[in-house]
Amino acid sequence: MFGKQAKKCCTPYRQPNKVESSRQAGRRLRVVDGNLDSNRLTRMDHNTKKWLEKIAPTDIRFNEPMSKHTSFRIGGPAEAFVTPRNVSTIRTLIQGCRQRQIPWLIVGGGTNLLVKDAGISGLVICLAGCLNQIEQIGVNGHQVLVTAMAGVQTKTLCAYAIANGLKGMNFALGIYGTIGGATMMNAGTRHGCVADVLDSIQLLTPADEIVQFNRDQLRFGYRKLFWPQARGDQAEAPPVILASTFRFDIDDTKTLRKQARAIIKARKRTQPLGIPSAGCIFKNPVDGPSAGELIDRAGLKGKRIGGAEISTKHANFIVNRHNAAAADILELIKLVQQTLKSKNGIELEPEVKIVGT
Ligand SMILES: Cc1cc2nc3c(=O)[nH]c(=O)nc-3n(C[C@H](O)[C@H](O)[C@H](O)COP(=O)(O)OP(=O)(O)OC[C@H]3O[C@@H](n4cnc5c(N)ncnc54)[C@H](O)[C@@H]3O)c2cc1C
Repeated sequence: MFGKQAKKCCTPYRQPNKVESSRQAGRRLRVVDGNLDSNRLTRMDHNTKKWLEKIAPTDIRFNEPMSKHTSFRIGGPAEAFVTPRNVSTIRTLIQGCRQRQIPWLIVGGGTNLLVKDAGISGLVICLAGCLNQIEQIGVNGHQVLVTAMAGVQTKTLCAYAIANGLKGMNFALGIYGTIGGATMMNAGTRHGCVADVLDSIQLLTPADEIVQFNRDQLRFGYRKLFWPQARGDQAEAPPVILASTFRFDIDDTKTLRKQARAIIKARKRTQPLGIPSAGCIFKNPVDGPSAGELIDRAGLKGKRIGGAEISTKHANFIVNRHNAAAADILELIKLVQQTLKSKNGIELEPEVKIVGT
């Protein structure tokens, strides 16, 4: 599936080399709040731009509005934005960024991202639209193994599974974005999550190795994959997910289709689909009522700041009602957190990834 890389990818699992220090591994974009600092957007010099133009002449854009690449339709410019066509280009880009000390960020469909208004310094590497093959790679007893590359749309894999009578992906119906993003987020619903059907993943490490991890070597949490080689520095230069292999049971297409229709109908009834958002904004608390229920009970449904609104249909959605800025969304997030902390003593943690400055 990866052409020249296929051999490496398919070799049995081996422990990656010792992980580099976060400095060696390159400065990755911070997924934390920061002060607005538009000067940061001047970091990329002429030579770096020339290098990027040489590596990906038709696929590189400078000062690219991230609002074009997020489901929120919000986000300041990425200093440079690239849609690489293959794994080899991704490797060249990451190694070049490391050498030049340019931060980079991997994105998929941008459906779980809030990009701040001053944008993103460094290089955004977008995998949606490339690495988009699906392949049935084998049968194991009653189960079928299917590999989807990171850029495959999650909904495409759902449709593939139904059409081929493979049971297991229906939980993801209505989840947007790519398989890379879904694996990274351990995306899920009350019907299941990625970790339930995953067999293995292929990763590209910052040290430029392609390694495979089987499901039992991976640890997932709620909307989270813990990087296998993490040493407490998860925010720095994590690997790139290149592909995920899933294990599906064999079932009847008709039954799966019927179930799919019911799931999609329920989502349409309960979620503000069609208005820009990033899905649920907060993780649900471990026990007790859901985040949506808590926000609703606190009387915050319909609350607006600027162009952003806490959805009147589903209180755990913040929607971009009218040209909202990232600052509007962040204010609403803060308002919800403060209200629930003071009313219920509950600290809600954002599910959406907040990036940029
Ligand atoms: C209307 C709506 C409904 C939604 N409903 C759900 C739901 O029911 N359940 C749910 O879990 N989510 C839901 N989401 C959120 C979102 O669709 C999922 O989290 C999705 O899996 C994110 O995929 P993405 O490709 O868009 O990732 P992105 O948003 O692009 O990225 C998410 C994170 O993954 C990282 N990442 C992306 N690709 C890779 C890669 N190949 N390698 C390494 N890191 C990578 C990014 O750096 C970022 O940290 C919903 C979103 C919307 C807009």
